[in-house]
Amino acid sequence: MDDLAKQGFYPKNEQGFVYTRLDAIINWVRSNSIWPQPMGLACCAIELMAVGGSRFDIGRFGAEVMRFSPRQSDCMIVAGTVTYKMAGSVKRIYDQMAAPKWVIAMGACASCGGMFRSYSVLQGVDRIIPVDIYLAGCPPRPEALLDALVSLQGKIREERSAKNLFKAQ
Ligand code: SF4
Repeated sequence: MDDLAKQGFYPKNEQGFVYTRLDAIINWVRSNSIWPQPMGLACCAIELMAVGGSRFDIGRFGAEVMRFSPRQSDCMIVAGTVTYKMAGSVKRIYDQMAAPKWVIAMGACASCGGMFRSYSVLQGVDRIIPVDIYLAGCPPRPEALLDALVSLQGKIREERSAKNLFKAQ
């Protein structure tokens, strides 16, 4: 089975139609229009900023619309050290984002506390919010963040969106 078929898109028949499923269409639209919430907390945020520039151009993946409002974003990119002092705010902002929503933990600090095994640092943002993609590195390069974004797109394309939609009603 090729990649397109795995995502729910089937080849044209003799009339020129492409068969698909509602799930596949919803997921295709969602995965190509991710609006990131840049949660820059420390040095990893500098690499996060770089992906918005022309050299790395996150717009190639449909995710260039960075929003600082939780109401207008659906993917929180936690970039940096999550201190206990900031943890409450991170959680509150995540809670204010509308579902469906996803989280990328960018770098060692966001993933597991990194080098800061200290009284003031949360040992991984997954202790307060669910994380979809963990990204290694201190800091990860911008290309690695783009790779994480592509992985997230793949994950979104395999979700049961239509089923979840009806469940929510
Ligand atoms: S992982 Fe490294 S670069 Fe990223 S916030 Fe932590 S110390 Fe800074």
